[in-house]
Parts: sequence; structure tokens; C-alpha cells
Amino acid sequence: MTQMIQKIISSLGKGRVALNEPMAKHTTFKIGGPADLFYSARTQEELIKAVKLARENNFPYFILGNGSNLLVKDKGYRGLVIKYQAAKVFKEKEKIIVEAGMLLSQLIKESVKNGWGGLEFLAGIPGSLGGAIRGNAGAWQKSIGDLVSRVKVLDKNGKTLWLNKNDCRFSYRQSRFKISGEIILAAEFCLPKKEKKEILKLIEEYTLKRSNQPKEPSAGCVFINPKPFSAGEMIEDCGLKGKKSRQAQIAKSHANFIINLNQAKAKDVLTLMDQIKEKVKTKFGVDLKEEIVILGE
Ligand SMILES: Cc1cc2nc3c(=O)[nH]c(=O)nc-3n(C[C@H](O)[C@H](O)[C@H](O)COP(=O)(O)OP(=O)(O)OC[C@H]3O[C@@H](n4cnc5c(N)ncnc54)[C@H](O)[C@@H]3O)c2cc1C
Repeated sequence: MTQMIQKIISSLGKGRVALNEPMAKHTTFKIGGPADLFYSARTQEELIKAVKLARENNFPYFILGNGSNLLVKDKGYRGLVIKYQAAKVFKEKEKIIVEAGMLLSQLIKESVKNGWGGLEFLAGIPGSLGGAIRGNAGAWQKSIGDLVSRVKVLDKNGKTLWLNKNDCRFSYRQSRFKISGEIILAAEFCLPKKEKKEILKLIEEYTLKRSNQPKEPSAGCVFINPKPFSAGEMIEDCGLKGKKSRQAQIAKSHANFIINLNQAKAKDVLTLMDQIKEKVKTKFGVDLKEEIVILGE
């Protein structure tokens, strides 16, 4: 074990840092080789401390939410994976502040409990709030950026600051965070009051709309829709639905999903992604861009 690794382990606490942690355990794809070091940050302070430590020592690090938009390569990640799990809620009059490690499913439960309207369309998206804000996650023409009023970040210089919505530059599956590398610590929402039964009804409707989505492990849509076109329709028109590379398959029910049939390798998924890009480029002249994040060796 190198001195650097020992230093990180002793700073973050013995028993808190796992060595050679299989990332397949931490992604909805259930794919991914080992991360050298893996640490779960339970509070904002723990996250800030871990990031500071990695930065000061020039040690590579990666912030993990719920791993639902992520393909980790088969040889894993040489560095420290920091899973952000701080998930407290603070209420200040009309304002609701939520720590970004909270899962969207939990946030939706909170919204039902407290009568906060507007979040229902997020039902069925298996991400954390931080991952969702970074990618401006959404569905049915709605996105999380529409609901956020401010975002608290840890910037590149180690400072924490609040950014107003306009500074977050939200657009379709985009935000400043994809470029800035700032880490999302928390978000503030101003949500309209709604009857609990109305919220539940909408959640049920949105959940039903997802019933044709593949049930097998995946990372959701692989490619960003090259608007006004649909990546899924283009892939389907190329005749690629159902195509396999060993244990990875382009889903029959939704061509923009690649599914893990059983112990698929990242290599298999990447092979399918290359084939999709090539065929779509040849047929439509369009360069598809990945929505999923690809990490590791
Ligand atoms: C079955 C299924 C359905 C899906 N449906 C949808 C959908 O309808 N709409 C949609 O938009 N997405 C969908 N997704 C994709 C995914 O759930 C979302 O993109 C989600 O918001 C990702 O969040 P995460 O916490 O899992 O991010 P991760 O996969 O953990 O990370 C993704 C990226 O975000 C970064 N990140 C994570 N947390 C933070 C943070 N706190 N600060 C800064 N960066 C951070 C990571 O470093 C990484 O670069 C679906 C996925 C699945 C598996």
C-alpha cells in the first residue's frame, strides 16, 4: 500500500474507506471494476474534507451520487470514489433546502409527506439530487432545473457558495456543473403547496408512463436526444433494437437503453455504443453524444 493511500485512510478514518471496492455494487448498470478507494460521505463536512484531502495530495477523486447515469469500465477507477450521502432537509418559511445526497425517490416521499407540489415527474428516476441537478434530469418536458431556486456548491478553490438559478445555466440535460466541476452540496426549492392525494395521483400517472421502460439493469438513456430528434427512434430506425454484444443488449422496449442481461462487461456496452454511433452517423449524419458518464480504465 502506498504512503498516499495510507494517509488518506488514516485521515478519513479506518473502517470508513474500502479498498478495491467493486463499482458494480454502486451502479444501476451493475457493471464496473474496482475503485482503489471508496468512501461514503455522510455529511457536507465529510465530503468537503475528503475532496480537500484528495486535492491537496493530487489524488484523483470522483463524486458519486447513486450511480444511475454511470458506466464504470472493467478495470475500475484509480483514485478515490466519494459517494455523497448527506440527505437532510431544512425548512425556512417558503424555502426548502435539501442536501444533494438525497435520492430523488426519498425527495418525492418528503414531498408527499409535506404537501410540496411539482416534483412528481421525477418519480422513477433512480438518481440522487446532486446527480440530477448536474445533468438537469427530467422527463415529459420538465426538468429539475425548473424547480430549483439556488444551488450550494463547493468550488474548485475549496469555497462553498450559493448560486442563483440563472447562474446554473440549466438547459436540456445541461448545466454549468457539467463544465465547472463544482460539487453540488445542496439545493433550495420553492414549491407550491398541493393536496397530498393530488401529488400521489400524479406520481402514479408518471410511474405508469414508465411501465414500458426496461426492468433489467441499465443507466437509463445512453445518448442525449439530438433535438428535435429522438435518439431512441434513430437507433430503432437503424434496425439496432435487440442487438447484443455478449451480455449487453440494446433494449427491445426502448432503443436508447442498453441493458445488462447478466454480468455484462463495460466493454460489451461500449461496443454497442460504438456501433450505434457509427450507424446513426451513416444513416442520419448525426453525431450522438453520451448522456451517461464513462469512468475509469
Ligand atoms: C431506469 C432508469 C431510468 C432513468 N430515467 C431518467 C429520466 O427519465 N430522466 C433523466 O434525466 N435521467 C434518467 N435516468 C438517468 C439517471 O437516473 C439521472 O441522470 C440521475 O439524475 C443521475 O443521478 P445519480 O445520482 O445516479 O448520478 P451518478 O450516476 O452517480 O453520477 C452522474 C454524474 O453526476 C456527478 N455527480 C453526482 N453527484 C454529484 C454532486 N453532488 N455534485 C456534482 N456532481 C455530481 C457524477 O460525478 C457523475 O459525473 C434514468 C436512469 C435509469 C437507470
